[in-house]
Formats: sequence, structure tokens, C-alpha cells
Amino acid sequence: MSPETIDKLNQFKLDAMNAKTLYLAKIKEWNFYQKVYYVITLIIPIMFFFALYWAKGQPYENSIGLISLFLSIFTACYSVWSLINNNDQKSIDYHLGLENNTRVVQDVDYFLSKGITTDEMNLFSQRVDSVNNQDSILLASISKGKIQKVYVANLKQLDRNAKCPVCNTALWNAKRGWFFQKRCEACRCKLGS
Ligand SMILES: [Zn+2]
Repeated sequence: MSPETIDKLNQFKLDAMNAKTLYLAKIKEWNFYQKVYYVITLIIPIMFFFALYWAKGQPYENSIGLISLFLSIFTACYSVWSLINNNDQKSIDYHLGLENNTRVVQDVDYFLSKGITTDEMNLFSQRVDSVNNQDSILLASISKGKIQKVYVANLKQLDRNAKCPVCNTALWNAKRGWFFQKRCEACRCKLGS
């Protein structure tokens, strides 16, 4: 294998690792919202029941009624937003994206240990391209700051001596730069002194 092929495979692996981390974060976020939604939908009937039978004539009867009403409106809005936003489909897409990128990482490891022919490399590059295109659509809403953080974390994980390809700072020793300081666009390390 030529050094260029090894570099390219490692780049594929890093990109796929970044996408995996971002998909996992999206799935976690989604699961959290779902749990909150289920807990609230569970609380509403209990509160209505409580307001009807035990809180009748009590000073807090009105407040409980009001809270249940507010929660009902909230869950109704959430359901409408979920439908419009096609949230169920998004959740499936995130899981698929995670799976595709996990396969890319596994394949890179396989090729790095067993070698790869030119034909295989061409085919593999095409597959990685199509996975990347899918990722850029699905992960478009993620902030630049988060992407940078994931990028640096995975780069460090891959290599103890990792250097940022843009500013060449050794990442394990790098000092994080604040927004008002001069810093690298790729890794957010502080530049200069
Ligand atoms: Zn940098």
C-alpha cells in the first residue's frame, strides 16, 4: 500500500469516527426528548385524576388544574411539531447513519491490516463518498463548535502524537483558545503567545 492510500484510509476512518460520535449524540438527544415526552404524558392523566377526586375543594385545586392544562397543551404542540418535523423518520436515519459509518471504520481497519487493491480502493471511495453525502445532509444542523470538538477528540484518540493538520499544534499539549483570542479554525487551539 502506498503512503497516500494509507493516509486516505486514515482520513476516511477519522471522518467516519466523527460522524459516528455526532450521530450518537443526536440519538441520545432524541431519546432524552422522547423520555421527557412520555413522562409528561404519564403525569397529565394522573394530575387530572388527582384534581377531580382528591383536590376537590382544596386550595390547590385550581393550580393543579392549570398545570395539567399547561402540560396538555405542551404535549399537543410537541406531537404536532414531531409530525411536521418527521421526527420518527429522522431517528431511523440517525441509526442508519451510525451503522454505515461503523461499517466504514471496520472496513478501514480491515484494509489497513490486509491491504487493498486499486479497484477495491475506487469502489470503497465511492461508498465512503455516498455515506459522507448522507452525513452532510443529516448532520447539517449541528453547530460548528460541536463538530470541531468531536474532530479534535477523535484525532487525539487515533494518535497519541496527533497534530492538527491545519495549524500543526500537538493536540495533547494544546491550550484551548477563547473566542476573543486568535485560534485555529479547525482545532480551536490558541495560536501564538
Ligand atoms: Zn489547529
